[in-house]
Amino acid sequence: MLNKNQQAILFLNRRGQATYVFCRQCGHSLRCPNDDQPLTWHGSQQGLLCHLCGYSRKMPSKCPNCGSSQIRQLGLGTAKLEELVKIRFPEARLLRWDADTTKNKDDHELILSHFSAHRADILIGTQMLAKGLDLPLVTLVGIILAEVGLNLPDYRAAERSFQVLTQVSGRAGRSPLGGEVVLQTYQPENYVIQAASHHDFTSFYKKELEYRRMLSYPPFSRLIRLEYRHLSQPKAEHEAHQLAALITDEIESKGLRQTAVIGPLPAYYSRMHGLWRWQIILRGQNPEILLPNLPLRGWQIEVDPPSLL
Ligand SMILES: [Zn+2]
Ligand SMILES: [Zn+2]
Repeated sequence: MLNKNQQAILFLNRRGQATYVFCRQCGHSLRCPNDDQPLTWHGSQQGLLCHLCGYSRKMPSKCPNCGSSQIRQLGLGTAKLEELVKIRFPEARLLRWDADTTKNKDDHELILSHFSAHRADILIGTQMLAKGLDLPLVTLVGIILAEVGLNLPDYRAAERSFQVLTQVSGRAGRSPLGGEVVLQTYQPENYVIQAASHHDFTSFYKKELEYRRMLSYPPFSRLIRLEYRHLSQPKAEHEAHQLAALITDEIESKGLRQTAVIGPLPAYYSRMHGLWRWQIILRGQNPEILLPNLPLRGWQIEVDPPSLL
């Protein structure tokens, strides 16, 4: 590729990286024993947490699958990746496209125009790469750690991963020069990775729908997310527990047992702009009938939230 005077793109998904815990020996990722959701790392205080049922545990010292001690959260940034590529291909001209290299608004344009004018051979970047670029000299796309986005605790994580993987893959092979996509992953057998690597929308759709039905997530149910933010973590936690208790009472007294209550739990992004976030998810055919009788002052209410993170 380089000696043919063509270009390459390396894509690294950063979302979810820091909290994704897996074994570097066998690829095993830590999941909740109750519901098979990914466990996410919340620091040594809170340890590992399931955002669906609240299950928590400490970080294990050994992989439960193969016994290796190489189990930990991830942290490969684009800067580190650039460093590694530089060592491997010292003659290649590299360009990095991420939040650090795009502090100004014009930086995006600048990087793109540099790359499309072939003033660099390899473009290394994050989500930004998924945008609709037309780069005829790009004949190789490498996706690093393709499974990372799958391990976010959100029912749409698979759908988003599939979208981003197929979009990024689409950057190669738009030109008469042809193209190749290489996915690097610790979970090659995962249905999302399989379908994305074959551009197989139908089989992804079928499988994903099956999972949503099994776990009764949309489109088989409706969701309401109730979120409470506060400067004080104990206050936010207390409010969330109080409201959850009232919701449980309401469900009991009205006989609405088909409505499920998920939480209260800290949100995946547990602190934003200095505020602690706690949330309760209601799931059912019409969970909104619970709302009128609840004291929701100070709560943010989201019906059919696009993301649960
Ligand atoms: Zn769980
Ligand atoms: Zn292992």
